[in-house]
Amino acid sequence: MTFDSLGLAPELVRATTDLGWAKPTPIQLDAVPPAREGRDLLACAMTGSGKTAAFLLPVMHRLLQQPTRATRALVLAPTRELAAQVHADFTELAKFTTLRSAAIFGGVGMGPQESAFRQRVDVIIATPGRLLDHLGQPGKYVDFSTLEVLILDEADRMLDMGFLPDIKRVLHHLPKQRQTLFFSATMPAPIVALSREMLHDPVRLNVERVAAPASKIEQALWPVAESLKADLFIALLRQDVVGNVICFTRTKHRSNRLSDVLTHAGIPNARIHGNRSQNQRTEALADFKSGKVRVLVATDIVARGIDVEALEHVVNFDVPHMAEDYIHRVGRTARADATGEAFTLVSPEEEVDLRAIEKAIGRKLPRRTLPGFDYAHKPVERFEVPLAERIAAIRARKAEDRKRAKEKQARREAHVKSEAERSTKRQEPRRPDATRHDPNRPESHRPGSPAGGGRRGGGGRRRGGR
Ligand code: AMP
Repeated sequence: MTFDSLGLAPELVRATTDLGWAKPTPIQLDAVPPAREGRDLLACAMTGSGKTAAFLLPVMHRLLQQPTRATRALVLAPTRELAAQVHADFTELAKFTTLRSAAIFGGVGMGPQESAFRQRVDVIIATPGRLLDHLGQPGKYVDFSTLEVLILDEADRMLDMGFLPDIKRVLHHLPKQRQTLFFSATMPAPIVALSREMLHDPVRLNVERVAAPASKIEQALWPVAESLKADLFIALLRQDVVGNVICFTRTKHRSNRLSDVLTHAGIPNARIHGNRSQNQRTEALADFKSGKVRVLVATDIVARGIDVEALEHVVNFDVPHMAEDYIHRVGRTARADATGEAFTLVSPEEEVDLRAIEKAIGRKLPRRTLPGFDYAHKPVERFEVPLAERIAAIRARKAEDRKRAKEKQARREAHVKSEAERSTKRQEPRRPDATRHDPNRPESHRPGSPAGGGRRGGGGRRRGGR
């Protein structure tokens, strides 16, 4: 089967050829024909399966049939990175057409996004929160009255992130008569319920399939003590067991720590997590994609939506708590037709979470050890200071700051007091003068009068005894 045989507009087929895509992926084969005919879809598709093109191609085909200057499709995505990625994919696929899209997400200015709405670009790709911000603006410049297609991308992740109420609020602004394409990696009960509310007689794709990472991903476990994870990771990098790699940590704090340790070891790296600004995230991703840095340290929030060509490795620095997160992280490598390796560093404390993951993916993962690595050595410094200790250190620092501020205040008061005393003493010898009556002296130059001590009052100035 080729893209030609999917009945898509020639400009779109040309774009897929230009991208070097030899044939449609299974989800594209299944999704494009019914979506092109206007049917609703309920599709269970992992990242890496080619799902983005599976919904973009039929929508773009539809828009090309009757070009008008109106916003006709809306894609809702859970994260900024995913929205940016869908927008980038759209731009590639639209390069032989005049179709335009805009990415709408937080962390950047509202102004350019407002003009995209006003220009009525064909497709809006948005995170729910920022879209609601725009919908609530005075001026009512968001117009979805011409909307024909709504796409939910990674619906399960939107649910995990608490976007369900936001999605429902967005739905109030959309026409009831529309085509809806619903994509989710997993189908937990609340997602099935939401899909029932939103879809009309949908074509169901792969819904019964057990979610699992693409088969071309080589997965392995590296058992190691928690305290030696950073050392083992550095050794894997130095021995080229891992090449360019996205390394996932459980928390922002751990990703900051790992980034510092890598920098200390002379390994170029960048960080990407929820506390970083949009500019910092974009720059980190660009540096990683261009090869300027070899390691991208990330938390789960960005696991979905990062699309890096030829990514050789994913390393789970920590075992994810949820099997779904494991599948998504691992899906960063071996996208579409490529192959890749996904390694997970496992400490004895994480074996329980690991067993749940192995159960979810339906197999035991092989375990590896690195020859020559001393699994018993003592780390030079602790990788992570426990939370209680960190809080105690912050408290101690604050107490020290308060003590210093108090001492400073006391010094200031003592200084003011001694200055006051000194100036009183300085004035004392004048007192006899002040009391002596000098009939030639103007009233205003007498000590104690408002202008006394003024610069121009020659007599008064000299009396202090130069
Ligand atoms: P996603 O859409 O997130 O599942 O990502 C799929 C990745 O595979 C992206 O890097 C796409 O550019 C790429 N891709 C999509 N469709 C194809 C195809 N038919 N052949 C080869 N690569 C593809």
